[in-house]
Amino acid sequence: MARRRSLLHRYLTHGGRFGPQDPDYRRVVLLNMSLLVLAVMACGFLLLNLFLLGQPRIAVLDAIAAVAALALMGWYRRHGQLDFAAWCAVALVGLFIAGYISLIGLGHYSLIWLGPFPSLAFFLLGRQRGLWACVGLALLTAAGLALLAPPDSPTGFDRIAQFNLLGALLCLALLALYAEISRQQVLRALLESNRQLHQLSTHDRLTGLYNRLKLEQRLAEELARAQRHGSPFSVVLVDIDHFKHVNDRCGHAVGDLVLQCLGHVLLRGRRASDMVGRWGGEEFLLICAETPIEGAVLVAERLREAIQEAPMPEAGRVTLSAGVSAYRSGDTMDSLLARADMALYAAKSGGRNQVRCSPASVGGSG
Ligand code: GH3
Ligand code: MG
Ligand code: MG
Repeated sequence: MARRRSLLHRYLTHGGRFGPQDPDYRRVVLLNMSLLVLAVMACGFLLLNLFLLGQPRIAVLDAIAAVAALALMGWYRRHGQLDFAAWCAVALVGLFIAGYISLIGLGHYSLIWLGPFPSLAFFLLGRQRGLWACVGLALLTAAGLALLAPPDSPTGFDRIAQFNLLGALLCLALLALYAEISRQQVLRALLESNRQLHQLSTHDRLTGLYNRLKLEQRLAEELARAQRHGSPFSVVLVDIDHFKHVNDRCGHAVGDLVLQCLGHVLLRGRRASDMVGRWGGEEFLLICAETPIEGAVLVAERLREAIQEAPMPEAGRVTLSAGVSAYRSGDTMDSLLARADMALYAAKSGGRNQVRCSPASVGGSG
């Protein structure tokens, strides 16, 4: 049973390629589900109409619908073009309903089959195209009835009953349209709040750089990569010199501006494969992927010079110190950062406005 359910689940989610977090997930499930239901129902009705009800004309329609639904299922599995497959599925269901009503006439509650169509059309095609599909189906059904409905069939379906049914179907279509509009609004709001939550959880509000959480995630990834493949990487811990004085002399607002300016300089100065973020307070961390310590020292020197020359009219000249360490075999996040911190401390004690690297890092492992 579990295996059958998982097979069905794989079919509905297009081989597991769509998950609940995907904006198109529901559309894909509904598309696959409606094609499957149409194929199964058409096969069932085919047998019924052939062997029990004696309706060969409708049995032909069932056969065509079943084959078309199966073909569309196969085509979508191979090409995965959701928008086109959705159009085809809505057209197929619409043609099947219109064809059935036209062949059987207005008796036997046939118009009831128009009921599920608006929900399907709006969900799969969206508001505007869904509306066009509903109008198309109404016109097609009316034309089909005029041309094909058996004139002598005893419908027992008077004008008042027709108005009742058509009125109820119109209400159903409007409700489906309203549900689709609401669904899209909720989906948009949800996607936007997810985007904001993601931004808040990974970025620092003041500088717009990545925050410590994101840096730690990237560090863990780089450590795993280095442990598995032995590829080098380095980190640069950056700290503004005498930042307390900047705050005391010029106020916290100017201090904040200096932090934002440093953020820009770091962002501009790093390479595309590097990651830079705010480690905390006035400390920043640069993760240099695939970079031995010599390369990271060069990057840090370039940043130090850029900051020294960056115009900061409110705060005067601002400098930074940096400590660099490179991955060594057996390193953990803590040991790697502790060496960068020690190097930073050496840069501070050595007079500030300089870059130092952890001596044990030079020359690779050991
Ligand atoms: P050193 O050269 O030894 O690094 O001196 P320092 O004054 O920079 O050292 P310290 O770490 O003692 O001071 C850091 C200051 O950074 C203290 C704190 O008020 C300030 N600071 C931390 N976060 C912020 C912030 O978001 N905005 C502002 N304006 N100041 C901050
Ligand atoms: Mg500090
Ligand atoms: Mg400082």
